[in-house]
Amino acid sequence: MELIFLGCGTSQGVPLIAHPNEGLDLSDRRNHRTRSSVHVVLDGLHVQVDCGPEFRLQCLWNDIRHIDLVLLTHGHADHMMGFDDLRRFCEMRGGHAMPVYTTDEGEQRLRTCFPYAITEKAISGGYVALRPLRMPPVLELPNGCRIRSALLPHGSISSLGLVFEEKSSGKKLAYFNDCHRVTDEALEMGMHADVAVLDGLRPLPHPTHMTIDAACEAALAMRARRAFITHMTQLVDYATWKKKLPAPVEPAYDGLRVTL
Ligand SMILES: [Zn+2]
Ligand SMILES: [Zn+2]
Repeated sequence: MELIFLGCGTSQGVPLIAHPNEGLDLSDRRNHRTRSSVHVVLDGLHVQVDCGPEFRLQCLWNDIRHIDLVLLTHGHADHMMGFDDLRRFCEMRGGHAMPVYTTDEGEQRLRTCFPYAITEKAISGGYVALRPLRMPPVLELPNGCRIRSALLPHGSISSLGLVFEEKSSGKKLAYFNDCHRVTDEALEMGMHADVAVLDGLRPLPHPTHMTIDAACEAALAMRARRAFITHMTQLVDYATWKKKLPAPVEPAYDGLRVTL
């Protein structure tokens, strides 16, 4: 399985306008973060998780050439404003709709923001076509791999927590990107993950996201072999936190590729 971090930032605190006192070293490219999104390849099947505002650039920078299906974790702008840029990927399917597995709330937001795109066939060549589908607790993929899901609390809404299981290798990846708590159900689902990716917005508490400490606790409770923090603000300097975090937890960065 391959995990590509297209982005591991958030809309809060755009790094380029960080206050000097916040200690973010902008000469370190790993502190230049776009909105959180990952691309996962399981036994040759390409799964895109979220399409944020920088999705088009993220695809160019990371050489993303194919997408088989999309998962939308929830309908917040930082995870869905790039859906129109699935155009090229739809064109490569002959204009047939791209399956998008999401929640009720995610589907409503998609229909509100991209009404012209909710169609089985693109309205003309080069346009986007999306087929919203409800994410089941276990999504069986045509190649025998699986994606499990559980709802995670994220303020007044829920976000999809995802666990990817590759058939050929037996490897497991947990991706919990926007949540203020990892529920017992999600913890159980992600137990003994080869890699866990967790929302660690910043050191300070926030009503809808986990702190870095809470993310570390969840990674340790899950007994993950490796763990990465994502969805970070300008209060998280890469090099500083790389030293500070307890093994096996480390901060992610845009463009990071992990082979499981
Ligand atoms: Zn969110
Ligand atoms: Zn977010």
